[in-house]
Amino acid sequence: MTISRIKSIFIIITLSSIIILGIVIYKDMMFQNNPLSPEILKKIDDKKRHLQKLIYQKYHLNFTTPVQTSDKLPNNLFGVAIYTQQNEIQVILNKKRFQESEEYMIDYVLPHEYAHALMFKLGKFSQTNGGHTLLWQKICLDLEGKKCDRYVKHNDILFGKVPYLE
Ligand SMILES: [Zn+2]
Repeated sequence: MTISRIKSIFIIITLSSIIILGIVIYKDMMFQNNPLSPEILKKIDDKKRHLQKLIYQKYHLNFTTPVQTSDKLPNNLFGVAIYTQQNEIQVILNKKRFQESEEYMIDYVLPHEYAHALMFKLGKFSQTNGGHTLLWQKICLDLEGKKCDRYVKHNDILFGKVPYLE
């Protein structure tokens, strides 16, 4: 192989790496600066409907709660359930985390937070173990949650003002 051949191979590899890196950065920026795609929003909505059905079957309650997404949650917090000053219930999911795995957010995090929300609805406000009581765990499992262990590092129930939403 001639030197000039090696040089042109080197240049082609370098250029393609730069282009690929550019695409990755661009996609990242697009994700950060835009709302979640309609497909993901539909998946959240479908899951909410499914959870509502499960709650009706198991608890004979017609319960649903607003679910919003925000990129202002700390990175290590996937979602949070809030009991507001107006005695309303709210679930916020960490928008940034959808980029890695929407399946995790929808099948693991959403039922987990919904179980906290239903606890509020039932008037159970225990903050023992960050609200991850035995009853919470039962509800989480009833909602087909996949992340229902009682020992979690982050506190994901809040009372009072609603943070993270502009
Ligand atoms: Zn929790």
